[in-house]
Amino acid sequence: MPSIEKHRTVSLERTGKDYMEVHAWLDGNPEKKAERHDITKIYKHEKLIWEVYGEEGLQEYMRHIHDDLKAKFEHIRQDLDKTIADTLAYFGVK
Ligand SMILES: [Zn+2]
Repeated sequence: MPSIEKHRTVSLERTGKDYMEVHAWLDGNPEKKAERHDITKIYKHEKLIWEVYGEEGLQEYMRHIHDDLKAKFEHIRQDLDKTIADTLAYFGVK
């Protein structure tokens, strides 16, 4: 998944603000990181983010979740592609 610094850079390029506090809130505490990325809790979290950072901050929060999700599934796809290739090679299929 993208680092906090990468998220910060993307926000800065998109909005002119880095929204570091939003990204640090999401990724900065290892004990709460999974809970704060839980998409079943977006409605709970979006209210908190919107109250503090407004509509643009909320968009950056949603974009952070989107970018993490996309990166995670890309990693899974790459692992799956490698596993398939390794399995085919094992059986002599190329
Ligand atoms: Zn994250």
